Formats: sequence, structure tokens, C-alpha cells
Amino acid sequence: MNQFKPIFLGTVASTDDMSKLKRAVDTQKCIRAGGKHNDLDDVGKDSYHHTFFEMLGNWSFGDYFKKEAIGWSWELLTKVYGLDPNRLYVTYFEGNPEMGLEPDLEAKDLWLSVGVPEDHILPGNMKDNFWEMGDQGPCGPCSEVHYDKVGGRNAAHLVNQDDPLVVEVWNNVFIQFDRQKDKSLKSLPAKHVDTGMGFERLVSALQEKPSNYATDIFTPLFAKIQEVTGARDYTDKYGKDDLDGIDTAYRVVADHIRLLTFSISDGAVPNNDGRGYVVRRVLRRGSRYARKYFNAEIGSFFSKILPALVDQMGEQFPDIVRKQKDVKEILDEEEEAFARTLDRGEKQFEKYAAQAASTGAKKLSGADVWRLYDTFGFPEDLTKLMAEERGLNIDEEEVAIAREKAREASKSIKDSVQTFAKPNVHQIAELKDKLQISTPDDEPKFTKGDIKAKVQLVFTGTEFLESTKDLPLKTPFGILLDRTNFYAEQGGQVADTGRIVIDDVAEFKVLDVQQFGGYVVHNGYLDYGVLKSGDEVICEYDELRRQPIRNNHTGTHILNHSLREVLGDEVNQKGSLVDQDKLRFDFSHKVQVTVPELKKIEDLSNSYIRQNCKIYSKDVELDLARQINGVRAVFGETYPNPVRVVSVGIDVDMLLEKPENPEWRKVSVEFCGGTHVEQTGIIKDLVIVEESGIAKGIRRIVAYTGDAAHAVQRDAEEFGKRIELIEAMSFGPEKESEVKQATADLNNLVTSTVLKDALKSRFNKVVKSVVDEQKKRQKAESKIALDAVTGHFAKKENKDAKYFIGHLPISANSKAVSDVLNHFKSKDKERTVYMFGGSPSEGAVVHGVYVGTHVASSGVTAETWSAAVSEIVGGKSGGKEPTRQGQGNNADKIDEAVEAARKWLEEKLKL
Ligand code: ATP
Ligand code: MG
Repeated sequence: MNQFKPIFLGTVASTDDMSKLKRAVDTQKCIRAGGKHNDLDDVGKDSYHHTFFEMLGNWSFGDYFKKEAIGWSWELLTKVYGLDPNRLYVTYFEGNPEMGLEPDLEAKDLWLSVGVPEDHILPGNMKDNFWEMGDQGPCGPCSEVHYDKVGGRNAAHLVNQDDPLVVEVWNNVFIQFDRQKDKSLKSLPAKHVDTGMGFERLVSALQEKPSNYATDIFTPLFAKIQEVTGARDYTDKYGKDDLDGIDTAYRVVADHIRLLTFSISDGAVPNNDGRGYVVRRVLRRGSRYARKYFNAEIGSFFSKILPALVDQMGEQFPDIVRKQKDVKEILDEEEEAFARTLDRGEKQFEKYAAQAASTGAKKLSGADVWRLYDTFGFPEDLTKLMAEERGLNIDEEEVAIAREKAREASKSIKDSVQTFAKPNVHQIAELKDKLQISTPDDEPKFTKGDIKAKVQLVFTGTEFLESTKDLPLKTPFGILLDRTNFYAEQGGQVADTGRIVIDDVAEFKVLDVQQFGGYVVHNGYLDYGVLKSGDEVICEYDELRRQPIRNNHTGTHILNHSLREVLGDEVNQKGSLVDQDKLRFDFSHKVQVTVPELKKIEDLSNSYIRQNCKIYSKDVELDLARQINGVRAVFGETYPNPVRVVSVGIDVDMLLEKPENPEWRKVSVEFCGGTHVEQTGIIKDLVIVEESGIAKGIRRIVAYTGDAAHAVQRDAEEFGKRIELIEAMSFGPEKESEVKQATADLNNLVTSTVLKDALKSRFNKVVKSVVDEQKKRQKAESKIALDAVTGHFAKKENKDAKYFIGHLPISANSKAVSDVLNHFKSKDKERTVYMFGGSPSEGAVVHGVYVGTHVASSGVTAETWSAAVSEIVGGKSGGKEPTRQGQGNNADKIDEAVEAARKWLEEKLKL
């Protein structure tokens, strides 16, 4: 119902098409896997809850109400759908005297009147039969319809009892009250209807199936799961009847692919909070089911089920067809990352579970649950589920305490552990000569996945140690390994973060990685345990962080290439930064890069990306590598020999066959030691968000790739919609303030420079039309003001009047006031004018005075006069004699001020 909230709250803008709606019918994509509505724990276990489902609804916005809604719902269910009325039960709100709520007997009578027998109409409590959006605002009673799947009995006593055979199918909400701050209820002037019918539950009733999963909504998904896993047939068994757990796993996988597909196509990406974490949790939960019960290999499992869903629902929901490729990529990436720890996490869980069992405890300790999350990425609800399978519980409060403790600790560590000691030349020499330590093999950094390695030494900054046993936990130091997959900061690419672990024995958090003369120091702190020389450890860099870094690094090469294509050969790299958020590229170029040029650069880069070129790399003799036509190297940089050559699209060996080939200039070839994507398509998109000058002759471009690029494009699209709304507004203070706000927001918007430029030129037209209108009104008001004053003096009876004091029919318009003052100052010097503008409804007053020569001769000054007025209307005044202008907020005192100004002058003239 979120999309309709503004209508219910009465905040919908009159320019919004939605404001014209009186009625609506729709299907809503509902997710209940977190927050207020969370059915995740039931999914797999029962027959009628899903994490994702379609909620069919009909809506009335101040149009039809209870009588029609009840009549029509009964007609739809029994006549149109042909459900047996004897199997239907309805509920109505029983009232709540404590809350001052009457029973909804109106609903009860209406159900009776359409023919529902009295013993099928049941009262229900606040929880089931009263709906509120929040502590305040629209609310009202609701009336549910339940369906008995058995029939031939009176099942009234099973309604709302969690019986899988008597389930709620439809809920009709009658929004008739507005809850006030003080908790009292006010009747709403416009009453609304909001109903929700679970499509999957309706289908199970229509197809006469005992469960939602036995309907043809799920059959195609189950068929696909069977095809992919080779599992036995689905038999729709539950709980203990599902002996091998396979039916449960079928349900979980089929349910979860629906949630994953719909949420990712709507723009959610798996991460650690909010809706992103819902996606992550559900994917991990599903992966574990798939592996445990179907023996499926995790890494690209869900994306294999995806085509069946797209086939089934793509016609009604074209977004999932459009986004299918993105969904697959995101699912695979995320699954792959979890696959790395799933196995080890399960083993660790077994250990913890065995420990708990051996001590007779009925639960896993909170610290263990937290560790499973922190080290292996097991969401709490997954651990809970695994624990339940073993007859164990988890104590959520204990977990929360462990989580909080760990957060506090890591916060304080990250504050204190900022800088790490670097080994100096003597220490490096000591490593090499005295300690005879060889530099590590760091090739694994170019491959995905964890590796095993051996600890060589621990570096404290002052000395090398063989063990951490004398070092306090959570203090900074470095670790040297015989081999590593961690990327040490180099060539503009930031260092990896991650961890070095011996499961359940020791864990070292890696915050930074640096290399010195070929030695790689993993800097960070020990979270628990002891590490010593010779220990075998698992090296885990943060893959989910590395992945956007990879995108950005290959993106940098492509950008560098496009820059030369568009701006010419003089463009040379002057600096570069590649991190998980962005790429930043500095280059020599004398003038600002124009927007059309930026567009060309972006387009060229994106067409390179879309070609889905393979990335090749190879170590090559430096002299030979330098001969490759068009190779990009940074001037003045010393490169190792052999040097690593990275080429986007053409095999390095092929380049070397004929290095001088002029065709090679069309290819991005660079000397580079960084990590790259396998195929350019993974980058998805490159969007330039900034172009600026950083020094004479040096420009900087900042660009986003992948999901970040899509996010900023979406922001631009949203802003476009906002402009559209503003364009449709008619001129007035509302539009003026919207334009002001939007101008500021547009300036601050971080988005595609090209799109922003288009937004700006479109928005400037809106701004201009507002300014023009303001000017027009301004001019008109100046004229009104001047006419009023000159008109006064033109009257016969005022022919000899020396002054005018009065409230003019204008807004609080200072410009109109000063126009009048200027007129008198230059054209009618003798006469005096004190005028006021504004009104109580506007909440502002302006006033202005010109002291003509006649009055001035009595010693009157504009300054003292206007000070007397300001005292009444508030604010201050300013200006140069003989004029003065001011403004204030006491607009309801304008008349009083006019009188006071008059009295003040009369007093002065009397003297
Ligand atoms: P239940 O008590 O069965 O969980 P509910 O009270 O949470 O239902 P409502 O919030 O009233 O349900 O939602 C309206 C309709 O949406 C329900 O009548 C039902 O048909 C459907 N529905 C609700 N939750 C789910 C779910 N998790 N899976 C499938 N359908 C659901
Ligand atoms: Mg529910």
C-alpha cells in the first residue's frame, strides 16, 4: 500500500496523477522477510506463507465504502470464482473498550445481509481485526475472509488458529479513523477501502489443493529444481512427514528465488543492512538448503532456477525479463562469496553444536552465533534454523549482546589502529640476509577464492617475532606469509581487507596491505588466539569489496583508452585512484572537457564494455613490451622487468607477434599490476560523475561502474520525474519554494555529468519561467503601488497634501516599495510618502519612507520615523536619508503601524 500512502495521508500533490484516483485494483509485489512483517521463519515449514507473494487488492479513495466492498468481495469469491460459500468464514472487529473502540457491527450486519450465515461470522481482536499504519494517522477495523480446505463441517473454531487447512485469504480494511497525537480517534472526512487477497492462497482454494505449493504457481519451479539437482519428486509433505527434508528444501528454494528475483530487479543489492540484508539473508538461507538437501554446488545455483521463473512470470512482470542478466550476475557473485565460507562455517557450527550438546545446554551461546556470522557470514536466522534441526535454541538477546560488544570493540580498534609501521631499509635487509626470508608468491591475488598459506613472521614495527603470544590482542601489527592472495596497495589500486584465520583457533583482521621490496606486510590486529611461524592459515580477502575494485580498475583502463581516442594523443595519465566506490583519473589536458566530449568518452567506454571483451595479462620483457603500438605507460614511472601487460580484448601474445601493428592503437593495452575483471561485461556501465581541473593543464575525472553507476543513473531519472512534477505546477509560492529547494538539490546531486547537464538545461527553463513570472508580477505590483500613491495626490482634495501614509494593495514586495520611493526622490521631491505592503495571510510586512523636502524642514528624518514603525511590525530598517526601508513579521499589526506612523509625524509637525 506504500504507493497510496500519500492519498490516505492527504499529502498527495495536486499535480500528481494519483491525486485523481478514486478507485484502483492491482497486484502488489509483497515481501515479508524482515521488519514488521517477517514470515521468513515459516517459509519451507508451512504450506501458506511465502517471503514473496502477490497481494491482489481493490482500493477506494474516499469513494465506495463498507457496503460495496463487502458485497463485491462476497460476489467475487462465490459467484465469479465459484468458491463454496459453506467453506467461507468471515471476521469483524469485536471492539476494544479500553481503546475507546466500538465493535464493527456494521460490517457484521453487511455480511449477514449478503447471505453469510451467522455461525460463519466471527468476532476478532485488535491484532487480527484492527489496522493501523503507525502510532498516528489513518486506521480502522478490518474484516477477513477465511477458507476451509476440508469442507463438510463447521470449521469456525479453527479460524485464526494457525491451522494450515483453514487459512485467511482476504483482508478488507476500512480506513475510517484518524488517530490523533493524544491517541484519540477522529472520524475521517473521506473514508477509504484497502483490501489484500493472497493470490497464491486463492489459487490453492481454486485448484482445490491443500497447500499453495501444490498449485501450478510452484510446479514449474519445482520441475526446474528437479532438472538442475536430479532430486526426487516433490510430494508436498511437511514437518516430520517430510522424512528426508527434500520437500522443505524444494519449497525454500522455489520461494526464495521469487523473492531474490523480484527484489533485485527492483534495485535491491545484497549487502549488510536494510533491504540489502534481506536479500543476502534469504540467499544464504536458500544456498544452505540447496547444498545440504540437494547436494547442489553453490556458486551459480539460484541463477539456474531463474529462467523458469522468468518464463512463468515475465509476461506480467516485464522488469524481471529486462533485468534477468543483472539478477543472474548479482546472484552468482553473492553465492560465490558465500560458497567460500559455507563449508567451513558448517563445520564450525557442528563443533559448537557438539560442545553445546556435551555440556547439556539446550542452546548455542550468543558468542558462537555471533562468531558464525562474523567469520563465516551466517545470518542469525540461518544459524537458528540449523540449531533447531539439532534440537537447539538460540538466545536472541545473547546474540545481540555479543554483536554489540564486537561492534564496540571494532569501533575502538579502528579508531586506534589507523597507521601501521613500515619496515625500513635495515629491517628489509635483515629479513633478506639475516633471517633468510624469501619474498612471498603473490600470484594468487589474481585468482578468486581463498588460499592456504604459512605464517613466516610477525612484524611489530621495531622487530620481527616468531609468535604473537607476547603481543596484546587488538593492537596493530603486521604478518608476513609465504604466499598471499591479498592485494597490496599499488598503482593506484587500494589494498584489500579481509582476514587471516585458523578456524576457531585464531583470527587476524587485515585492514591494510603494503609491500616493501617484494615483501608483503598484512597489517591489522588479532581478534583472538595466537599465530606463530609455520602455522597454516586461510587467507580470505573481502571478495565483495574486491569485486567493485576490479570493475573500477578495468574501467580505468577503458576510460584511459577512450580519453585518448576522443581528446587526442597528448592525453597522458597523471594519477589514478581505484577503490571500491569509484575510479578517479587525472590526466594532462589543457582545457575543460566539454559535455559533448564527456558523452563521447562515456559512450565509447560503454560500447567497449558491452563488447564483453576478455581481459588478457602477461609478464613481458620490458623492452619488447614498450614496442607494442599505443601501449599506455605512465611517463617517469619505473617499471619492473619483466612488466605485466594488461590488454582488453586481444591476447598479449598476439600483440607481441607484430608489436608495431597500427591496429593495436584501438585496443587498451597498459602496464599494470592490478586486478581486473575477466570480461568487460561484468562492469555493466561506466558513468562519469565529475570532471574538474586540479592544476594547470591537469584535469580529473571521477567515474562509477557497476551497481554504483546504475544507482546514480536512477537518481538522475528520479530527478527528471521531480522536474516533471514541478513543470506541471501552476505558479505560486508552492512552486517558488519547490524550485528553490530543487535548485539546491540539483547542485548537490552526484550523478552522471552528462545527465546532470541535461537535467540542468531542462530545469533552467523552469527556473526562468518562474523568474519571468516573478518579474512580471513584480512590475505589475510596482505599477499598482505607484498608481495608488500618485492617484492619491491627484485627487482634488489632496492637491495640496504634503504627505501620504497608508497600506498599499501589494504583497510584501520590497522592490515595489523602492520603485515608489525612487519615483518621489527624483520626480516629486517635495512630498513625503510612508507606505506599507503585505498582509496577515502572507505573514510579512514591508514598509518604506521618503521624507520630502517640505517635511524634512521640520527636522524629520527617515531613520527615526522608521524606527518607530519597526518597533511595531518587528525587524529593522535600513537605507540612506531621505529614504529608508524595512520589513517585519508582525503582519497583523499593519493597521496599527500605519496609525502610529501618522501620529508620529503629526506630533513632529506640531512642534
Ligand atoms: P496470516 O495471519 O495468515 O499470516 P496476515 O494477517 O499476516 O495473514 P494480512 O497482513 O492481512 O495477512 O495480508 C493480506 C493477505 O495477504 C492475507 O489474507 C493472505 O492472503 C496474504 N498473505 C499474508 N501473508 C502472506 C504470506 N507470507 N504468504 C502468502 N500470502 C500471504
Ligand atoms: Mg502474517
